[in-house]
Amino acid sequence: MSNDGELFQELFLWIGQDLPKTTDAKFEYLQTPNEIIVKQLLPDCIVLSMPTEVQDEVLMTLRHHELTSHCLILVLQDSPLSPYLANGTWDEDYTQHYQTYKSRKQQIKLRYYDDNAYKLLAYLWLHPEFILTPQSVPSSSTLFNYPLLNSWGIAPEESFSWLTSLKRKGWIESNSLINRVRFCGACQSGHLNYIDTCPQCQSIEIEMQASLHCFNCGHIGKQDRFKKKLGLSCPNCTQNLRHIGVDYDRPIENQHCSGCDSIFIEANVDAECLHCKVHNKLADLQVRNIYDYRLETTGRRIVRQGKDQGLFALLPGDAMTNTQFDWLITWQNQLAIRHGHEHTIVSIQMLNLNAFLAQEGETKGFAHLDALLERIRSTIRNTDACSYSPIHGLLLFLPFTKIDQIKVIYSKIFELKSRQTVSNIEVSIRAIALPDKNWGDDVQIWLTDKLASVESL
Ligand SMILES: [Zn+2]
Ligand SMILES: [Zn+2]
Ligand SMILES: [Zn+2]
Repeated sequence: MSNDGELFQELFLWIGQDLPKTTDAKFEYLQTPNEIIVKQLLPDCIVLSMPTEVQDEVLMTLRHHELTSHCLILVLQDSPLSPYLANGTWDEDYTQHYQTYKSRKQQIKLRYYDDNAYKLLAYLWLHPEFILTPQSVPSSSTLFNYPLLNSWGIAPEESFSWLTSLKRKGWIESNSLINRVRFCGACQSGHLNYIDTCPQCQSIEIEMQASLHCFNCGHIGKQDRFKKKLGLSCPNCTQNLRHIGVDYDRPIENQHCSGCDSIFIEANVDAECLHCKVHNKLADLQVRNIYDYRLETTGRRIVRQGKDQGLFALLPGDAMTNTQFDWLITWQNQLAIRHGHEHTIVSIQMLNLNAFLAQEGETKGFAHLDALLERIRSTIRNTDACSYSPIHGLLLFLPFTKIDQIKVIYSKIFELKSRQTVSNIEVSIRAIALPDKNWGDDVQIWLTDKLASVESL
């Protein structure tokens, strides 16, 4: 107990039957994980050495339990769930891996145990190489799920929209688009059978059929019916058909329905739900993009600062939701048109935040960032309205402020930027004036187009 770093008792557990060649004095060796719960142990690092069938069950139990939900778990061999629930394979020099985990653990200020969103942020923070990845589960009606979230009791059906809401807050970001799946509009099951049917009578008894088209009478029918001993003749008008292109041709309608005897080019395609039997039109299916996720800058700040204050911690007054902000500016725009008021909307964005933090290191980087944010915050008045959007960054509505005055306010921020020679945060500040008579139906689209059309100050 010589320095601060060792003040908390470290507990290393080795669970399972297979012992390493040389036992490590640091480890306690257990047969099963039950003792953790019985004795209320709080391990920092667990190594699992057990058959893969058992391992998956143990991983689910460990991630479920508060004592072990976030600790470093290494496995001797991979099992189906280990990529989703463990933190890699154990080898003799696991110490490096453990040190990273330990140093990140010491930086957490967030109390996360009673909130699933905070739990996720803390988990992603503790295990920086981990990407929250969905597992495909053909037997489940959601087709995909996130095993880590399942172990915390979040149902697969809920997890998709839940993750989207965290992404919208800027806490996590999608790493890559894994897949796009479609679900029944009635019961949200992904177990669909795509079935082609007759466009006339909806029968499924349709087949490809070679057909001919008689130029003499216009009859179209199955090729077999045109055949006679020698050559072809029309079953309708009995004309002999000798030359393709002159007497007859092959119509592009080459599918035949044996229910109503019609022929057609393209069958209808329906998605029949295997659970509720509803036939969905393709356009009525619910489309869902499946992503994997990692921690966003705002999420990292929450973990390190212990507060949900977003990238722009706004004082005085709280930030509005995007919906409230949209409503407010729409209303103010109408009033401004009627009464001749002038207002300004400002968008402030950090363009290279992740690259900046990587370059400066997180500790130093966040300190610079805080200083800059403090400056920005100091320019916000009580009467200004703010909102944060991942697309437009910090949005400010400055009532009764002309756009020229904005330049004066923000020169302060640029002063600070130029003084900070070491830090290279690229800030984009754009300002647009209200009222605007070409508002359109969608505020978000208006805002996007309008901001794109002005130069950064
Ligand atoms: Zn259904
Ligand atoms: Zn004919
Ligand atoms: Zn038919």
